[in-house]
Parts: sequence; structure tokens; C-alpha cells
Amino acid sequence: MEEVIRFIQDFTAQEYEVMIQIRTEPDTRLVEKNLDALNQFFQGLHSGLNVSSSRTLEERDTVQKQLQPRVLFQIEQYAHPILGTIYRIYLSSPFYGSRSYFTNFYIANTEKGLKIISRYNICNNCHGQGSQAGSLCNECHGFGWNWRGGQQLQSLGTLVAVRHFEHPADR
Ligand SMILES: [Zn+2]
Repeated sequence: MEEVIRFIQDFTAQEYEVMIQIRTEPDTRLVEKNLDALNQFFQGLHSGLNVSSSRTLEERDTVQKQLQPRVLFQIEQYAHPILGTIYRIYLSSPFYGSRSYFTNFYIANTEKGLKIISRYNICNNCHGQGSQAGSLCNECHGFGWNWRGGQQLQSLGTLVAVRHFEHPADR
């Protein structure tokens, strides 16, 4: 658990810095290098960030105020029948002021160490509840989260441990 906490803290710090650099750093090669390092946190999917060749640079002060390192709410550890130990990470969005669940990353111990193997975002239709007005949500089919890259997980296995960090503002 301690290793995965460090991993996700390193990830959120790196993602924040790269998101700022994409909009502010004139040295494109440096930005690409740091984006590549960010993508190394993933296996089978990417950060979703890109460096446009025609980007317009902005002031760092301005950009910093629009972004934040994602807030870490909770980590759940599961014993998955095929993947072994997997971790479900509850994070906010990287946009300033976000204090509610936005992304779930699933992390597994791969041959190359800990990697984010899939991304789900909270279902906007049912706000993660899985149901609406008493019937199953037809967007997420009751899961509350929608797949957004990497491995699709049908079941998570047995819940082994839960660690709470920040509390989401809307729950
Ligand atoms: Zn839904």
C-alpha cells in the first residue's frame, strides 16, 4: 500500500507539472521528454495529454490558477483472480477547485513494476450512483463509472483493504 501511495503522489505531481508545461514551456523537447516520463506511469493506455506543434504559450501564473494536482480521496486494494493485487484509486479532475470523484485509475503490479492499467471516469448521467429514478443507469449499466482506456475490468475480485485520504465535498 505505501508503494502505491507514493506512486500515485508522484503521478499527480508529474501530471500537474506536464499540464502546466504544455501551455507555458517554450522548450518543446523538454515538454515532450516530461510527457514521455508521465506516460511511463501507464501500461496499455496513455496520459491523454498531447503537445501541439502550434501551441500558444501562456503565462505560468495564469495556467497554474486553472489547474491542481488531482486530489487523492481513496485507495481500495483488491485480490483479482487473474491480475493478482490491484488498486482502485479515486481522484478528482486536474482542474482547479475540483473536490469530487472524477477518475478511477486501476493500478497493477506488472513486470515493469506498478502501472496504471485502466481508467474509468465517473458517470455523468447518474453521478456514480448506478441508478436513476429507481432504474438501472443506461449509460454505465449500473456500475457508476464509464471505461475510458486500458484494460476493461468485469469484476474487481475481493476487497482486501481501504485507505481514506481527502473526503469528497459532495458525499
Ligand atoms: Zn450511470
